[in-house]
Amino acid sequence: PSVFRSRDKLYPEYVPAYLPHREEQLKNLATYFRPLLVEPGSISQRVLLVGSIGTGKTVTAKRFGSDFKQLARQRGINLEYVHVNCHRDRTLYLVVQEIARQLRIPIPPRGLSAQEMFHIILKYLENRDMYVILTLDEFDYFIEVAGNDAVYFLVRTYDEHSEYTKRISFIFISRSLTSLSRLDSATESYLVRNIINFKPYASRELYDILKYRSSEAFYEGTVGDDVLSYIAELVGADTGGSGNARLALEILLLAGQEADKEGAPRVTIEHVRRAFTQTNPDISVMVNDALPHLPLHELLILLAIVRTLQRSGEPYVRIGEVEAEYHHICEEYGETPRRHTQVYEYVMDLKRRSIIETRLSGKGYRGKSTLIGISVGPLDLLEKRIREIIEYKRE
Ligand code: ADP
Repeated sequence: PSVFRSRDKLYPEYVPAYLPHREEQLKNLATYFRPLLVEPGSISQRVLLVGSIGTGKTVTAKRFGSDFKQLARQRGINLEYVHVNCHRDRTLYLVVQEIARQLRIPIPPRGLSAQEMFHIILKYLENRDMYVILTLDEFDYFIEVAGNDAVYFLVRTYDEHSEYTKRISFIFISRSLTSLSRLDSATESYLVRNIINFKPYASRELYDILKYRSSEAFYEGTVGDDVLSYIAELVGADTGGSGNARLALEILLLAGQEADKEGAPRVTIEHVRRAFTQTNPDISVMVNDALPHLPLHELLILLAIVRTLQRSGEPYVRIGEVEAEYHHICEEYGETPRRHTQVYEYVMDLKRRSIIETRLSGKGYRGKSTLIGISVGPLDLLEKRIREIIEYKRE
């Protein structure tokens, strides 16, 4: 038995039908490329998608390409969408070869330059009355390796060869505008005319994305909203994360695999902690390195946090519950508990060291209180390690 209905729906290469919170970008693309439907061949459009990793640039371009192709065909326009990843194909030669491969254009095996191959492609499109939207993804690599002349050659083709109908339009995808500054200003100005920005996702947006993608990937009732909002908060740009949807989906996938590994019927918060640690191994190294340096009572408080979290099964617990558990643990060890203000100091120190996260309670919790969470897992390993160091310090 598995919690997954279809885990490939979480893979990075899957292109879902809907893209929550990218409606604006899709609409802008449609506007820029509208002339291709109205008067095909009139322009060679160029649009630049800019945003950090995991902001949905690739998936948006692919969704758009495939929808736009349908739209064109309905109007009797023979249009193909071609997506080339320049991280893999970094030279003009490789890119042109890849375009030919995807369009199934036969190219003589040897002896042709990239430029000659490109003209074969242009003639082929001419002969078949075809149009192409060509996406050059991770274009930063192409700029770096292929260089200015290669970029110039691609984007200025139709200026140099007015005998051709304008059959290829471009979508460029880049992490940032700074990599374009390697180009000479004339070439650069060709690329930056139409820019569509992709901002890192906020946790509310990631929640919607995870909700939708999980409904495709998991059986109903195996992933709760608490799990989805916890991942969304770990990754959301407004809650201290990078806003990277790829990371959020990877954590969700790994958390599901953790659930399967132990035959659990549902994905839990604890599965998310383990998944998060797998995507970010440095963090558990850092936590483990920090533990031996903490004062005894700070460790006892950390142990109280771990135990309260384990018992609740929730992403966060209230500082009041932690303090009660801390008193309990002090009794076990025969230690005199520190006062509330000192407890609070220790909690703040744990936060400064990024061992715990804190936030103020909001919806779902009564009253205003400090909430405490730990994103590294598994918690039982952490508990074991803390206990060892406590024993050692008490000797
Ligand atoms: P980028 O190209 O900006 O690095 P991707 O387009 O590769 O980002 O997106 C990363 C992952 O997140 C992919 O699995 C993609 O399907 C998913 N994703 C990104 N944005 C959305 C969205 N709005 N809705 C659904 N899935 C998304």
